[in-house]
Amino acid sequence: MDKTMEKATEHLGSLHRAVVFLGPPGAGKGTQAKELARMFGVPHLSTGDMLRECIAHGTPLGLQAKPIMERGELVPDSLVLKMVKQRIQNADCSAGFVFDGFPRTVAQAQYFGELLKRCGYEQPLVVHFAIDPALVLKRITGRRLCKIGGEIYNIFERPTKVPGRCDKDGGELEQRPDDREEIVKPRLEAYARQTAPLVAYYRRLGRLHDVDAAQSVEEVSRRVLEVVQGHDAQSGGS
Ligand SMILES: [Zn+2]
Repeated sequence: MDKTMEKATEHLGSLHRAVVFLGPPGAGKGTQAKELARMFGVPHLSTGDMLRECIAHGTPLGLQAKPIMERGELVPDSLVLKMVKQRIQNADCSAGFVFDGFPRTVAQAQYFGELLKRCGYEQPLVVHFAIDPALVLKRITGRRLCKIGGEIYNIFERPTKVPGRCDKDGGELEQRPDDREEIVKPRLEAYARQTAPLVAYYRRLGRLHDVDAAQSVEEVSRRVLEVVQGHDAQSGGS
């Protein structure tokens, strides 16, 4: 009998906890969060998606959020938290869920912790995508898209054979306006400022697990799974 194998399969079958993915834009967090949720068959949640859903379905919260978003303003915490509360009480969240990019502040994290407690969950397991901001900046500002087929390249990490031309169809490559340094840099700086206290908060609680996001997608996936499973073994043993 192989106990390790047995355990691995068992863990993959059920998540039974709240997992939070924390990391700057461009660190590959969204892709990994989605993949983990898919593997465990649990919902992948983001407050952005939730807001769009509420608005599309015309729920009371959606009706409140709509004019605020249309004015291009930030939806207030009180509304976001109400939405989170409703969402995680849905039946589909009973086997666990993966939150992508929430909570964003210590205040949200404290409220979220209370909420989880009331739903019978522990504090979330936080997967922190640690990465050098200079590298993220290169990843985003180096991104180029083919105007014909939409293929994605990177002038630093995945250059084309002919500069400025797609390898597949010779299409002209362009940079998305949002990927320009003057847009990305302040966004990354704001993220770092906002997130540092949150990272410290979860670290103090012993819930934070660092993942080196500079590594390949496959390596990061392997590490994420290790974190999720390793944590399970720890709490199961105590
Ligand atoms: Zn192309």
